[in-house]
Amino acid sequence: ANGDQTKEPACFSSVIPGWFSEMSPMWPGEAHSLKVEKILFQGKSDYQDVIVFQSASYGKVLVLDGVIQLTERDECAYQEMITHLPLCSIPNPKKVLVIGGGDGGVLREVARHASVEHIDMCEIDKMVVDVSKQFFPNVAIGYEDPRVNLVIGDGVAFLKNAAEGSYDAVIVDSSDPIGPAKELFEKPFFQSVARALRPGGVVCTQAESLWLHMDIIEDIVSNCREIFKGSVNYAWTSVPTYPSGVIGFMLCSTEGPDVDFKHPVNPIDESSSKSNGPLKFYNAEIHSAAFCLPSFAKKVIESK
Ligand code: SAM
Repeated sequence: ANGDQTKEPACFSSVIPGWFSEMSPMWPGEAHSLKVEKILFQGKSDYQDVIVFQSASYGKVLVLDGVIQLTERDECAYQEMITHLPLCSIPNPKKVLVIGGGDGGVLREVARHASVEHIDMCEIDKMVVDVSKQFFPNVAIGYEDPRVNLVIGDGVAFLKNAAEGSYDAVIVDSSDPIGPAKELFEKPFFQSVARALRPGGVVCTQAESLWLHMDIIEDIVSNCREIFKGSVNYAWTSVPTYPSGVIGFMLCSTEGPDVDFKHPVNPIDESSSKSNGPLKFYNAEIHSAAFCLPSFAKKVIESK
């Protein structure tokens, strides 16, 4: 991937030279800043601006369109939770689809499940895949698993063409609903996910912050309650470098065998995790705890 090493993009704060400040209309009036040691890559793909920098305290950082996607220090929280909340909630997941997830971290986590036989991944931006392999080898290690089939394309189109009832689990590891991921938060996409899942199949999507985006979450929950006739749940976890320091997940199942997301039935087989190192964040207790919500969010989510 060839980057433009000449000029600093706008998100590198001129207010405090040498710092990256994450400003976005999605979180007006606030910005999380990280001290920059070195800019390692700057590029512009057909879909988004791509930056990698070495931070002073969180390792290397991947930024898409000015928004922090992952840091070496805290990516484990997000990748492990978005993957194991769904996959540990059903017995023997075999066929898994990942939408987005270009850094490869979700693939690394799915690969821990010995029952999984096939993993399709549809990522729209090849530059993200290439940059992750170059700068985040411990995250992109997921691509080395022989069960992975990578498709470079739009997740919306991929799901439209997916065979009905063909997946046990779909994980939507998307960026935010501005830019290429916008349609991944809309009703038609959720309908295509439900169609591609088997009865009692599960989906887990990146579902923003309950501190910042209750309006977005409200819409997602309403759509999911209409579409997924099994169960619909919102979970959340701590990721220090995400806006407001938390990120949420929608966990839904299609009509069929009951799925009780709050009580994992399928513990991760420790022996299957040797090649990717031990789990750093996920465990059965934090799985159940992830569904405990603050009252202001509980009220909105349970009223939909
Ligand atoms: N996994 C990361 C983390 O640890 O926080 C965050 C998300 S990942 C980088 C988001 C990915 O979604 C990006 O690689 C982006 O290119 C991809 N993406 C956005 N819109 C998409 C679409 N419509 N179809 C497929 N992939 C998409």
